[in-house]
Formats: sequence, structure tokens, C-alpha cells
Amino acid sequence: MLSAGATIGILGGGQLGRMLAMAAARLGYRCHIYAPEADSVAAEVAAAFTNAAWQDRDALATFAKACDAITYEFENVPVDPLSVIPETMLAPGIKALEIAQDRVSEKRFVEEIGGRPAPYMAVDHSGDLTSAMARVGTPGILKTRRDGYDGKGQWAIASEHEADGIRIPDTGTVYEGRVSFDCEFSVILVRASHGEVRFWDSTLNTHEGGVLAHSELPAPAIVSEQVEEARALAQKIAEALGYVGVLTCEFFATKQGPVFNEMAPRVHNSGHWTIEGAVTSQFENHIRAVAGLPLGDTASVADKMVMDNLIGGEALDMARHLADPAAHLHLYGKAEARDGRKMGHITRVG
Ligand code: AMP
Repeated sequence: MLSAGATIGILGGGQLGRMLAMAAARLGYRCHIYAPEADSVAAEVAAAFTNAAWQDRDALATFAKACDAITYEFENVPVDPLSVIPETMLAPGIKALEIAQDRVSEKRFVEEIGGRPAPYMAVDHSGDLTSAMARVGTPGILKTRRDGYDGKGQWAIASEHEADGIRIPDTGTVYEGRVSFDCEFSVILVRASHGEVRFWDSTLNTHEGGVLAHSELPAPAIVSEQVEEARALAQKIAEALGYVGVLTCEFFATKQGPVFNEMAPRVHNSGHWTIEGAVTSQFENHIRAVAGLPLGDTASVADKMVMDNLIGGEALDMARHLADPAAHLHLYGKAEARDGRKMGHITRVG
């Protein structure tokens, strides 16, 4: 158990790191952010900041010496340089990162433990795409194996002739059949080092242009019918990885049951509502798990809750939001409101 005043290192400097650092501060911990970008919104609320490249092993080793435990808020941290960090300090571990960084490894791993992803085939060369489309069917979505997030690195393919001229990146892609779903939901769990697992309620998640726009409770009946099976899979994933911390698995609710979409080995945008909408937020429970503290209650505090993302480019009417007594406004402190950039979110409880 980390004592008060201990330092938790966070790899990644975005809004997830910012909200983790704020939760850690409430529990009396200091956070040290490691991020390659100089304008880290997490570093602004943390006690220390190392601004260095992911590949800089010396900087990573010095960072590790300054921390008592280390976690990450970004799943694409390159794995090799992390070998300078003692394995026992890092939670969740390296295996979760390795699997989540490659869509194909992730789908294979989930299949091996009994889960059902969308039909897919790895496409590592241009010639493979035609056979993938023939086998999986159209319409489908071609996704980069690595570094894709928020719908980036994805191409919708409606029919076979649309594949002409698509250049497959060297790092490879995966072709997935388009799943016909009723809705999308996520399972967010926290697992402690001694194996205890707790789940938050599953929200209905709505995406716009591949980016989460909205989460709400209660979710439709189909989610309640499928959440048990989805939770069982998420728990199996966490156990197989010896996972410590918050894990998110995204699902499509289909007529045939829950179809696994992807996992994030970290706190997740579809869990931001837990800051005000649950007894213990995903951020606090992640810090508790990493610090070896007892987990907090994950129960929702109300039956109804909505979380809306504030996406860059939209004019923000702060006064209007602040005038709504049910609204909790969170801004991430990002100076530049580029299109598609997550600038903040608003949660309304009750
Ligand atoms: P991803 O980054 O893979 O989670 O994709 C972002 C969003 O695109 C998902 O949340 C879905 O709304 C949509 N999407 C991704 N893959 C599929 C699929 N195989 N079938 C239908 N919709 C998908």
C-alpha cells in the first residue's frame, strides 16, 4: 500500500492523466507525468513533469527512480523502452499494453478466451484485401493494426471495387465486417492486485464520426440483457492479463448477443460520468488499485445520468452550462480547439 505523499508516475499527458492526477491528489499522492508533448494538460495539475520522448530510456529510468508506482493513461506507449522500469512498479502491466496496441493480437487473444469479435482478417499486404473481403464480406471497415484511436486510421468499404487503390500501411491493417448492432456499450471494471473485481454500470454510448459523443444511463433493455455476458468476458480478459487497475471493453449489442469491439487498458471516456455519477469514480479506483488501497464502491448514485463530450470547434457557452444546477462542467485546459479534439465534457446526474 502506498503511503500518503508517495509519487505515482503516469505515462501520458492528456486529459485522462489530468483526471487521474486530480483523483490521486485527493488521496494524498503526488503525480509525476511523463509525456513527449511540452503542453501536457496533465502536467498542469501534477507535482512533477518529465517532458521526454517515449524512446528516451535514460529519461524513463530517471523518471522511474523518482516514482513509487507507475501507470499509464495512453495505450500506445512504445513497449520496448519500458523495460527500464522494474516490472513490479508498472500497473497495469506490459502484457496489457502489448495486446491492446495491435488490433489483430487483441482479437486473437479475445477469441482464445471465448469472446466474439466482429468477423475479421489481418491485411498486411495490398493483395490480402480482396481475399479478406471475399472471406469476411462487405460492407466492412479497414483499420490500421496500430496507433488508431477515435476513428482515426479507419476506412469504410461499402463494396469490393472501393478497395482499388487502397495502399496498405507497412504496419499492417485488419479488415472487419461491419457489425449490424442495436447500440454500443462499454464494460468498465477495476481489478485490485489481490484479484477483486468491481464493475460500473454500463452506459449506452453514442459515437459521431468514430468519436464518443455521448454516454447515458439507463441504457436500453438490450444492454441489461447482454451486460452479464460482456462482464464475464471483460473479467476473463483482466484475469488472463493479471491486470491491476481500470480496464475498458467496448461492445456492440447485436441480436446475436454482445460482440467485442475493442479494449482500452486504461480509464475511458465512457466512464467520465463516474466522477459525479458513481460513489467512486473510475479515476479514483484506478489510483486505489495502483496504490494497493481497498477499492471503492462503484454503484451509481442516480438512475439517470448523461455525459456529453465537448468536441473542439464547437463554441462553448460556459455561462449556460454553469447556470444548469444539474450540470458538472469539466474543461481540460487545452488552448487550441482543433476539429475533433476533446476539450471537455459535461455530466448531468439525476
Ligand atoms: P473503434 O475505434 O474501432 O472503436 O471504432 C470507432 C467506432 O466506429 C465504433 O465505436 C463504432 O461506432 C464504429 N465501428 C468500428 N468498428 C465497427 C464494426 N466492425 N462494425 C460497425 N461499426 C464499427
